Amino acid sequence: MDPNCIFCKIIAGEIPATVIDRDKDFIAIADVNPQAPTHLLVMPIKHYPNLNAFIDVLSNTVIARLFAFAAHLGASAGKGAGYRIVINTGPNGGQSVDHLHIHVLAGRHMSWPPG
Ligand code: AMP
Repeated sequence: MDPNCIFCKIIAGEIPATVIDRDKDFIAIADVNPQAPTHLLVMPIKHYPNLNAFIDVLSNTVIARLFAFAAHLGASAGKGAGYRIVINTGPNGGQSVDHLHIHVLAGRHMSWPPG
């Protein structure tokens, strides 16, 4: 746990959030500023600053299971019509919280390219 990380504080129960799903390794919460009818944030419970933590270990089962967790929730929320997952990384990537998380967006049609 990083004591300065807002998502670590949510995971520890120190800050309230709407928890959608959780197991021993991963948690999904509702985004406080939703950009779609369903907007979840899916993240490892262990603190990793961003996706770069996995550059040298992309075969790591943590990242594979994180994607599986996100896909399961996205498929359910998308009701067969699809969904989008996004991982913002670093300042140019638009990352504002430095705890690796996958945005899962569903419930409307998504345009491309993103802003
Ligand atoms: P990113 O900009 O990719 O790092 O995404 C961070 C996301 O966290 C944003 O979509 C915020 O709306 C969301 N967020 C920030 N604080 C909270 C919070 N306390 N509970 C739920 N979502 C949050």
